[in-house]
Amino acid sequence: MLNAFTVDFEDWYQGIELPFAEWSKHEPRIEKGLYKVAELLAKHNQKATFFTLGWVGEKYPEMVKELSAAGHEFGSHSYSHEKVYRQSKEEFREEIRKTKAILESLTGSKVVSHRSPFFSITSQCLWAFDILAEEGYTIDCSVSPIKTWRYGISTCPDEIFRIEGNGLIEFPVSRFKLFGKNWAIGGAYFRIFPYVFTSSGIKRRQNASAANMFYIHPWEYDPQHPKIKFERKAMITHYARLGKTYPNTDKMLRQFRFNTVSNVINQYEKQHGIRSVSLNVLNDQ
Ligand SMILES: [Zn+2]
Repeated sequence: MLNAFTVDFEDWYQGIELPFAEWSKHEPRIEKGLYKVAELLAKHNQKATFFTLGWVGEKYPEMVKELSAAGHEFGSHSYSHEKVYRQSKEEFREEIRKTKAILESLTGSKVVSHRSPFFSITSQCLWAFDILAEEGYTIDCSVSPIKTWRYGISTCPDEIFRIEGNGLIEFPVSRFKLFGKNWAIGGAYFRIFPYVFTSSGIKRRQNASAANMFYIHPWEYDPQHPKIKFERKAMITHYARLGKTYPNTDKMLRQFRFNTVSNVINQYEKQHGIRSVSLNVLNDQ
């Protein structure tokens, strides 16, 4: 079992690039989707890592405590959901430091993992890995080896690896090839296309002894969340087939065993060891 289940713990208006200053104007619905995914994880007795915004931790401390008591792991998803490549080094450091402190005080456990908003550690901001290590993080899950208009590092190894120099472990988005195209395990790929695409990708990777990184958001379990206009490219996938997330997750959790990011990395290291990769490899410019 080398499958990690991860939830980017944020509300619908944070997942669509609306300015931080306007968040309070939107209808809060975070609990609607969150309790659906939590219910499925409990039903199948499986554990996940919740990459949580510091802002969410401050606003909904009880939800964090409840999930932590149920045995789930917490990681940082920044404080304000800004893309790393739009931040200064100082802004990035301040957010990951603040969020770590908030989540640690709520859960009583050490927060060692991080995922940037919109998988936004790209070759423009590789400096972020050193800052994560300096701030006490040991695991990062921010890189996608599939390059899109918004994120991705095309040269990122498709495996769990250690970054040479700072020792940080990177667990990137999982990729598989189907019909000559690259697919990821999670998010829009998971709900828009038939479930069998994801399940065959997981199986194929398992047969190759690769680890799987599944990612999803609470708002993907809430088809009734408000429809507003924003950037067209992002809108196309944001609202598509949201009704499929719940039944597809139910099927997937019945078919496969998942665990937290830390547990999967520990198991992977015992079975395969973790290869060191130079930072130069991640520069795809
Ligand atoms: Zn996010």
